[in-house]
Parts: sequence; C-alpha cells; structure tokens
Amino acid sequence: MLSFEEARQLVVRKIADRQGRPFPTLSLPLSEALGFVLAQEVQADRDYPPFDRSTRDGYAVRSSEAAAGASLRCVGEIKAGDNVTSPLASGTCIQIMTGAAVPPGADAVVMIEFIRRHGEQVSFDRATQPGQNIVPRGSEARAGQAALKPSLRLGFAELAIAAQVGAAQLLCARKPRVAILSTGDELVPITETPGPFHIRNSNGVSLAAQVRLAGGEPVLLGNALDRIDDLSAKIELGLRGDVLVLSGGVSMGKYDLVESVLKSLGADFFFDAVAIRPGRPTVFGRCQNVWVFGLPGNPVSSMVTFQLFAIPALDLLSGASARPLPLLEATLVDAVKEKAGLSHFLPARLEWRDLSPCVSALRWQGSGDIAALGRANCFLLVPPDRLDISAGERVSVLPRLDVL
Ligand code: AMP
Ligand code: MG
Repeated sequence: MLSFEEARQLVVRKIADRQGRPFPTLSLPLSEALGFVLAQEVQADRDYPPFDRSTRDGYAVRSSEAAAGASLRCVGEIKAGDNVTSPLASGTCIQIMTGAAVPPGADAVVMIEFIRRHGEQVSFDRATQPGQNIVPRGSEARAGQAALKPSLRLGFAELAIAAQVGAAQLLCARKPRVAILSTGDELVPITETPGPFHIRNSNGVSLAAQVRLAGGEPVLLGNALDRIDDLSAKIELGLRGDVLVLSGGVSMGKYDLVESVLKSLGADFFFDAVAIRPGRPTVFGRCQNVWVFGLPGNPVSSMVTFQLFAIPALDLLSGASARPLPLLEATLVDAVKEKAGLSHFLPARLEWRDLSPCVSALRWQGSGDIAALGRANCFLLVPPDRLDISAGERVSVLPRLDVL
C-alpha cells in the first residue's frame, strides 16, 4: 500500500505528465482576482520606487555635512507628493516627510528624533551615513521588469503589486471545475428532514467548501443511491468537468459500488488504498479524460483525503505548481498511542505558548465524528513507525488553514 507521501506524489506526477495544453483564461478586474492563478506576465510600468524615497520623517542632508555636532540651515520642507526639482544647496538641509522625494544633492535623511532645532538651524546628534533612510529609485523594480510572473497564485500581496503598477485587469486561468457527488442510500439533502435512520449529506457541503478554498469551482451533483444505474448516470454527469470528487462507496461493503461503476465507464485507477487513517480506501484514477477521486464517505475521512490528495491536483489544474503539504512542527502536550503501520491524522488543537506551537489530540469517536473536527484546528500526524509518542516530543501537524 502507498504511503500518503507516495500517493500524493503519484497524483502530482500523473497530472503534471498530462499538462501542457494552454489553460482557458479570463480577464478579471483586481477586485475579483483573489485566489485565481495568473496567466500573464505583469511588468513594472516605471521604476519602483519612481524617485529616491525618504523612509522617515526627518531632514534631507548631504551626509558629509551632517556629522555629529554639525549644524545646517533648514530651507523649507518637502511633503509626500510634492514636486522636487531644485537640488539641495551645500550648507543647507530641508525637512522631509516619509514617502517624499529626496532632492538631488541630498544623500541621506536624518530622523527627526536625532536632531535638535533652534529656529532655522538644525544640529545633528549622531554621525550620518550616506544612503541612510533613502530607498533609491528603481531599487525595488526597474521599468519593464516582471513584477508578477505567470502561474503565480494571486493573494493580497500579488494584488497590491498589480495595483501598484497599474494593471487593473488581469488575465487569469479559469478555475478547474470540480463535480462533487456523494453516494449512499442513507443520505438526504440538507433541506430535507431525515427519517430516523437517514443522515444529511454534509460531505457535499464540506467538499464544496474545500474545493473553493483550494481555488476550484465546485459543481454540486447531489447524491447517488447505492445502485448501479443511479451511480452510472450521475457519474457520467460528473465527467463533464475537470475533476470528479465522489464521497462514499469505496470500501469493501456489498453496496460500495463506486469503483466497479467507474471501471465499467472506462476508468484507470492509479491507487485505491493509502496507508492512512482515516482515509485508507481512497481512490484516484482517470475516467474519460477526467481526473477522479473516490473519497471514503466518513466525513473526517473525506476532509483529510481531500486535503492530502485533491489540493495538489487542483493547483496543477489551475496552472499553478502543486503547493507543498503545509506541515509544521509542534510540541506534543499529552502522550498519544496509535496502531503502527498507518499514518494517522488525528483531530487536534494547536495553541501557541510563548510563541511556540503546542498540540493536543482531541477525544473523538472516529472518522464519523464531525463535532470533534469542529473543535480541531489541525490534524496531528502520527507516523506509521511510531507506536507511542510521549508528551514533550516534537510532532508534525497539518494545520486547517481555513480556520488558522
Ligand atoms: P461509506 O464510505 O459509503 O461506507 O460511508 C461511510 C460512513 O460515512 C457511513 O456512516 C455514511 O453514512 C457516512 N457518509 C457517507 N457519505 C456521507 C455524506 N455525504 N455526508 C455525511 N456522511 C456520509
Ligand atoms: Mg456508503
């Protein structure tokens, strides 16, 4: 059986091997582009900063004239946004504000905290270094240089860069369309009242949210009954997008029909089990040119396996590179004991004590326990070769980035 690392790599390799076609694109205003992947290069329209910029409120000087104890006559002031053309005359200084242009001739700004002023005279408390408190024109980016490159995911900083260089519209890759189909005779839509032995279809909701957070566009197909005819018909509807995510019906039960129905529709499977708990019977394959994930139906299993395997797939299908699994290290608060041979992803709570992350596994009833996951902000990873982990040991944690 594949480890979760191997299974994840296989997803990435299979999808990357088939990549290369140009992505369908759309042009979006900056206000709508958050989370999309850029499909163009964005260039700096001019030098950045566009002028030698003061980073402090203070006095622009010639550094050689502003030694400790020296004094200079102040000849005026420059605010952010002022036109600056005339050079600073020798023997003078000029008051300057943060963000204002440093006049020609001046090569340093002395912070207002380190001067004393008597009328027009300004005297300096300490030595002045050439270049201090000035960001030179073009030192952040030169006109014509790439400010943003294609394949970059647009976060708030990337949007600010686009705004800075005046790129009000961005060409982005269309988000991959992800069909979501739950399966199970026991499931009812969340708008209906379940019978005494029915449950509501919560996976449709959680998977759609996970798709959105991962940069995909969910297409909700509802639920298929555990019957070959209904499953086949609904799976075929799901094969119109870029990815089909199924939940349930992939275990060993008599009514777990997903794999056999996919097979009858021509699917190839790259794996149908991973050495993890929860999530062991996870299926990944390709059916009629669509990538298919068959996730176990238990809610926590579907959440964990989506995080592990579907997110890198959506990255690649969005035109970005697959993001790494964002594992971080934390100190274990209470000892844990798990069965060897599998990687366990336990609902857990991460807290920061004196800035250092500490993690506690939460009490739970197994992979159907959504309530436990609601108390968790991460999964504690117990590796397959660790039976017991003592309190105080360093462990790996997969944060829930939707709540952290
Ligand atoms: P399965 O993987 O189909 O054997 O389902 C495993 C468990 O998960 C069963 O207890 C199901 O009732 C539950 N389950 C399956 N699908 C869903 C769903 N869409 N929403 C909530 N629970 C589900
Ligand atoms: Mg089922």
